Amino acid sequence: MSPTRINSVSRSSTPPQRNSPSSHGTSRSGSTLSLIDARTPGHIRPVYWVGPAATVGHVNGAGPGERPTTTAIGVDSSIYVAGHGGLVGSAIIRRLSAAGFTNLITAPRSELDLRDQGAVNAFFAANEPQYVFLVAGTVGGILANSTRPAEFLYDNMMIHATVVEAARVSGTDKLLYLGSSCIYPRLSSQPIVESELLSGPLEPTNEAYAIAKIAGIKLCDAYRTQYGCNFVSAMPTNLYGPNDNFDLTSSHVLPALMRKFHEAKLRGEREVEIWGSGLAKREFLHVDDLADACMFLMREYDEPGPINVGTGLDCSIRELAELIGSIVHPGAELVFDASKPDGMPRKVLDVSRINAMGWTARTSLRAGIASTYEWFLAQQ
Ligand code: NDP
Repeated sequence: MSPTRINSVSRSSTPPQRNSPSSHGTSRSGSTLSLIDARTPGHIRPVYWVGPAATVGHVNGAGPGERPTTTAIGVDSSIYVAGHGGLVGSAIIRRLSAAGFTNLITAPRSELDLRDQGAVNAFFAANEPQYVFLVAGTVGGILANSTRPAEFLYDNMMIHATVVEAARVSGTDKLLYLGSSCIYPRLSSQPIVESELLSGPLEPTNEAYAIAKIAGIKLCDAYRTQYGCNFVSAMPTNLYGPNDNFDLTSSHVLPALMRKFHEAKLRGEREVEIWGSGLAKREFLHVDDLADACMFLMREYDEPGPINVGTGLDCSIRELAELIGSIVHPGAELVFDASKPDGMPRKVLDVSRINAMGWTARTSLRAGIASTYEWFLAQQ
């Protein structure tokens, strides 16, 4: 199979229209408006990014050379983004490209099925990526998770197993694996700290996915312990942004709501049906902020176990729906179908560790939803 070395993303070349954060607020228990409008705010072998000094490095944390380092990542380092066409992968490609990295390696699923160990080994042997962002996976919302648990478990277990093993064999310098906040127990104390991992039963609606993701974290840790591999795991909260999945049968809540409001507006309908009671509380992170965090962690984080990535702020599904409605279809009426599952009652990450390292999210929920809707409209 032939890898692609790129400077742009294949799934869409439309850049997101980013708005400036509108206001500041950090209280986890603040009012709806303050949450929605808020601008939220180790070490086997430390790494940092080098290159065009003005552009490379974390956008709001320490720049290149500002922390003790032993390994520099030059702009010509070979970097493989597994899952480059997806929501997260495309954002990482955008971020790396913007920072001047030129030696980006990608391969579409049609040429490389990441569940195939032989093919993945051959790909790594041919390309020998120095750095790997492992952000491929079978992903979806409550409906997809609960109706396709076998796929969610098998695909995700296989993808991380093949890529982690191939990275070890080919001598990859560092790998960043992306888990999910779904790994934490259903009744975790909130905000969820990393030490909650494996402390209680999982949320049944996404148990298969969570078990695969937990195995991925443990795999990275096991390779670190047994082989000394510098493989790290980051746990993002719910993500949204350009290149998200807007298919109502498999999408997450935010893009699903955006599409529902949009289609109701086109049909001239006032009522919009929302799954669940609207009371469940969730946290949302713009994917460009996540991409920035991934670069930051590739440079700064070298420890076993997961590190949370989020805003640390949550809102109820009702508040989210009201916000999306106000942007997409002002005046729409929300109708909640409480017979549909809510999932975990509340899920918000404790992000004190990554904040203390010098990284915070920058995009307010209102600005992020508005720019994502602009992107969505541009695709129609
Ligand atoms: P997407 O579905 O948008 O993208 C997944 C990517 O993985 C796609 O490029 C897809 O290829 C690729 N892929 C899937 N299966 C295979 C395969 N067998 N072989 C090759 N490529 C494959 O997902 P996201 O970007 O949203 O998620 C990326 C990661 O982030 C996942 O690990 C997910 O668990 C994690 N995450 C996502 C969250 C979210 O809210 N979206 C929240 C927390 C974590 P193709 O384009 O061909 O389908």
